[in-house]
Amino acid sequence: MSYLVFARKWRPQSFEDVLAQDHVTVTLRNAIESERIGHAYLFAGPRGVGKTTTARILAKALNCEKGPSPTPCQTCDACIGITRGNHLDVLEIDGASNRGIDEIRDLREKARYAAAQGRYKIYIIDEVHMLTKEAFNALLKILEEPPEMVIFVFATTEPRKVPATILSRCQRFDFRRIPAAVMSAYLSREAASEGISIDSQALGLICRSSGGSMRDALSVMDQMVSYAGNDIKGEEIRGLLGLVESDLLANLAIAILSGRSGEALDCVERAFARGYSIEELMDAFISFLRNLLMVTTGASLALQDVSDSEMELLGKAARNVPDVAVLNVLRIITGAGYQARNSSLPRIIFESAVLTASKLSMAFDVADLPSISEKISVRSRAVETDRETGPEAAQPLQTGKTTDTASGGTGPAESEDLCEDPDPTEQEARPGIRARQESVRSEQNRKNHVDPEEREAEKDVTRKILDMFDAISHETSEGQG
Ligand SMILES: [Zn+2]
Repeated sequence: MSYLVFARKWRPQSFEDVLAQDHVTVTLRNAIESERIGHAYLFAGPRGVGKTTTARILAKALNCEKGPSPTPCQTCDACIGITRGNHLDVLEIDGASNRGIDEIRDLREKARYAAAQGRYKIYIIDEVHMLTKEAFNALLKILEEPPEMVIFVFATTEPRKVPATILSRCQRFDFRRIPAAVMSAYLSREAASEGISIDSQALGLICRSSGGSMRDALSVMDQMVSYAGNDIKGEEIRGLLGLVESDLLANLAIAILSGRSGEALDCVERAFARGYSIEELMDAFISFLRNLLMVTTGASLALQDVSDSEMELLGKAARNVPDVAVLNVLRIITGAGYQARNSSLPRIIFESAVLTASKLSMAFDVADLPSISEKISVRSRAVETDRETGPEAAQPLQTGKTTDTASGGTGPAESEDLCEDPDPTEQEARPGIRARQESVRSEQNRKNHVDPEEREAEKDVTRKILDMFDAISHETSEGQG
């Protein structure tokens, strides 16, 4: 028994079988029925959503011996030949590898001859946007006076790169990404017919990782069957695709959003211990935060592709969290993502971003970040002083406003800067600043009353932040030197 990959085995053979592109297939069927066949079609859309497949079905519908018919018989020589890919009059050309003028001239010569086997001669040019300018000009000449009974179907993922002169001579159809729900139902039905069992978590993961491309989804299915046999489970797919568990991401988000920095760092550590790379973790966390932001803002349409189990975790993480806090964390982490990709110490950058986010998510507007990180380091130095001179000395600096600068050492002097009243003109210009400073103050007052153990933990975290800032600035100066 020969082995066929799913993408070939399950390829739709009729318009009805094409998934989620009814706006295209219904129009094409009507055109065939009413005998209004165009000379050139442009099928635009993302990869793996059925463009070439639909082109072949169109060829079959037009050349079926019992047609032209919107429902080709699938049993005549023409139908079988097209299904097998060896029909003489249906020619598939890959625009990416045949992009020159010679290929198109050759095509032009051959297009003159009548169809050998069928009614129509059909040229399917894949990735047509890859053709050279000269080749497009040659193609344009054919389209200006198309030979009778010749039909072109151009497929492209980048219609913007197709010249307007070509576009204006084509009937254009835009193919869409396949929605997760449609893909999931289809995969589960087809898998069952092959005796493959696949759990709902695995289905959700395949659909999400495919980005709406059926070809990509089926290729993951192929890999899974050769790896795990006929019983596919979510956990195995995660391992294969390097996807981070949602509950780990949810715990990380919850720890950050409730300001529990130590716990957040432990989550990061656990992820590394499980073998995820920094990129995998960051990408997964950014996409989790994006979904969390959608939940907190109530944008339900943007969450169509999210599985039920992940929705449950998102709901848990979103409890009592304002959207602006999630937005702040998302900004900090995406910023770090960019920085980490260009660094030799990506892990430190990610960890310091996690710490920053857990300290700042609730209290601040991220636009103020640069000045805030300065303040944190001032405050951290003050905490260091507190460690050396004892908590009594540090008491005034924590409340800030009651500080007597004359009686204090360097610590209190620096801490006063931390809670300084804003310049009245600045305050007028930025009415929000007062509210934010109030919130900083109340946060500090709150921290002043926490139990010693918690304060000790906080100091640990602050020291870690400082170490990381040191490491980053060291690295930066190294990079420059
Ligand atoms: Zn037929």
